[in-house]
Amino acid sequence: MDQIAPVAQPRLVWLLGRDGYQRVCLRFWCLTSGVYTVLLLLQAYSVTVGLITAEHALLIRATAIVGLATFFVVMRAGWNRHFNDPAMTAQQMAFALGILAMCYVLTPSLRASLLIVTPLVLVFGAFTLTPRMCRQLGGFAVAMQAVAMVLSLQLHLEGNDVHPEAIIFVGCAVVFTMTGEMAARLSALREQLRVQKRELRLALERNELLARQDELTLLPNRRHALEMMEYEGRRAKRDKVPPCICMLDIDHFKRINDTYGHAAGDKVLRLFASHAVPALRGPDILARWGGEEFILLMPETSVADAVLAVERLRTNFAHAHIWADHPELQVTFSAGIAAHQSGAPIQETVARADAALYRAKQEGRNRTLQA
Ligand code: GH3
Ligand code: MG
Ligand code: MG
Repeated sequence: MDQIAPVAQPRLVWLLGRDGYQRVCLRFWCLTSGVYTVLLLLQAYSVTVGLITAEHALLIRATAIVGLATFFVVMRAGWNRHFNDPAMTAQQMAFALGILAMCYVLTPSLRASLLIVTPLVLVFGAFTLTPRMCRQLGGFAVAMQAVAMVLSLQLHLEGNDVHPEAIIFVGCAVVFTMTGEMAARLSALREQLRVQKRELRLALERNELLARQDELTLLPNRRHALEMMEYEGRRAKRDKVPPCICMLDIDHFKRINDTYGHAAGDKVLRLFASHAVPALRGPDILARWGGEEFILLMPETSVADAVLAVERLRTNFAHAHIWADHPELQVTFSAGIAAHQSGAPIQETVARADAALYRAKQEGRNRTLQA
């Protein structure tokens, strides 16, 4: 008995939920939380060696945990979907910059290590933010740095001196602004790549269509018809219901060209296709074989049914005025039908249908013969 393969269940559903995009956002949150955890462990160590007071450390830790928990709740509840950027990149970056400024004020002896983290935070913007937002966050980082420096000077914590602070600030302002600018350029490049990728995909889709479609009649072309016939041939082998193949050729088409011109001949080919397709049964496929020859693939059809269907089409055409501008124009076609024999190459069936068509032409045209 056939076993139905189980659908793979996403892991950590309790933490990340089931929704694909939300899982990506929450995974990113987990990554950020990992970085915060490392920094908080370093901070705990700093308390034991007296680089930061226990109260200050508690204040920083509490702020970080409350902030991270808030982001988690917002994402896990799905409220982030209402934001322009559901990953909340800008918000998370602004929060990180705030925490860094807070640490800058409260841990004077660790300032050098804190300052190198800021550019790292700013670079994250390049992945999701617009260039403008990347620049704005660079400016925000400079502003936070200014606030942190003014605050630390006012609090008169150990190690604060106006002159080195002023020099460091200018350095920070340049580096943060430049990092914001670099992130903005990367973001613009990302957008450019996205647009190019989309254009490439559309061009590929167009090419794929052109490779399978006849430009004039918009019917499947010869190559696509062969692919479909090969497929039906293989399916018939498995299901034991052979398809029928019918070759159709417009009678005296050269005369149409000679009488009305080549462009009118093209128009007749298009009209032929647009009249024939709606008259076919659902699974039947009409393709342009070349010139004024068409091939009709009739899956799972007996020869008797195929003859009936093609004869109906042929008599309709013989009596219809397909071109309203030229009511005198009567378009007829001849047809040859062959049933596919299981196991035989499909080209052999096509050749048999073609031979039947040849006989139909010889016997006077405007008729359907079977192989
Ligand atoms: P028969 O009844 O024996 O089939 O005669 P016929 O005139 O239809 O066949 P023949 O093979 O002598 O001529 C076919 C003509 O179809 C010649 C060719 O110029 C024309 N033809 C082939 N492809 C196109 C096309 O895409 N557009 C137009 N307008 N004419 C085409
Ligand atoms: Mg012809
Ligand atoms: Mg022909």
